[in-house]
Amino acid sequence: MHAALMAKGAAYAQEEAADLIIVNTCTVTAEADKKARKAVHHALAVNPLAKVVVTGCAAAISQDVFNAMSPRVRVASKLELEMEFSEGRQEPLLRIGDEFRTRVGLKVQDGCDHACTYCIVHVARGKARSVGVQDVVREARAYLQAGVKEIVLTGIDIGAYQDGTTRLPELVALLLKEADEAHSGDEAPARIRISSIEPRSIDDELIELLVAADGRLCRHLHVPLQSGSSKVLREMDRPYTAEEYRALVQKIRSRVPSIALSTDVIVGFPGETDEDFDETCKLVKDCGFMRLHVFPYSRREGTPAADRPDQVDSAVKKSRAATLRDIGSDLARSDLESRKGRLEYCLVEEATCLSESYHEMEAPTGCKPGELVQLAL
Ligand code: SF4
Repeated sequence: MHAALMAKGAAYAQEEAADLIIVNTCTVTAEADKKARKAVHHALAVNPLAKVVVTGCAAAISQDVFNAMSPRVRVASKLELEMEFSEGRQEPLLRIGDEFRTRVGLKVQDGCDHACTYCIVHVARGKARSVGVQDVVREARAYLQAGVKEIVLTGIDIGAYQDGTTRLPELVALLLKEADEAHSGDEAPARIRISSIEPRSIDDELIELLVAADGRLCRHLHVPLQSGSSKVLREMDRPYTAEEYRALVQKIRSRVPSIALSTDVIVGFPGETDEDFDETCKLVKDCGFMRLHVFPYSRREGTPAADRPDQVDSAVKKSRAATLRDIGSDLARSDLESRKGRLEYCLVEEATCLSESYHEMEAPTGCKPGELVQLAL
């Protein structure tokens, strides 16, 4: 939307003076929903003349709530807005801000065909669909030609990517080829990173691609776990057991020993006992994640888990989240420690740089933003 509006001659203005304010909303937790409503109220109050466009997942789920706030509010999907803003345009739009960015997200997929019992996102985003291979390649090529050094593939269920016979591993292989062709001189070619991938989508083909790409496809995977208790996973309608997840991690590590793994965990899902939580703590330690994103369970209306009578007390959720976050900090430290002295390509972004294994470090002196440099961790 940003790129399309800029291409049409729009310019940023202070919110008090803007003609149009776009509020991009999230609905993943009740807290996110609250923030979305607050942001729209704020936009209406700060500027009594602006049109306020509300988009994103909270807008998709609670269209009526936002429309009722003011006649100046218009609820629209991102796709509608993108099409409207880029009408008549043939060339792919580079989604890069005014300041040159070295890492860009490339959306290759949207929606999800699953129905985890705590999740509202699959309702907000609809069925799984993939961006056509040619469109993905065209956009990636434009970024690479503009000097982007890391392309992060994004989607709601990225492992479900499919266009004809092209699945995610084939798509990544095509993008790596593009990156090879775009690069020149002594500098390292751009790399590809997969943002988040469900355990069921990590197959042998993808693991072997990680091996063969030798770091060009970052040896870092974010694989949502959600719980280390098979009982809780079943009630969440996640299609794997704790043991299957553990076995998957072992398999990835045996083929790609330097892999960095991060994950999401929900604590305090309805019916989660102390024993279930202990199993989660044990599994995350065994898997040796380099980063944990811990979410206290958030009751989302319209999901099966929200109706359960055995909701976990919020003080218990808070305390479990704190325990798990402490474990996450220890794991992050030991992952970095285990890499000490190892050479990794790091992408310089201003004062910091990002290693292939997703550790953020201070950028070495003398390096420019956008450089991909080999450093000892
Ligand atoms: S995989 Fe589950 S948690 Fe993720 S978007 Fe789909 S339904 Fe939601």
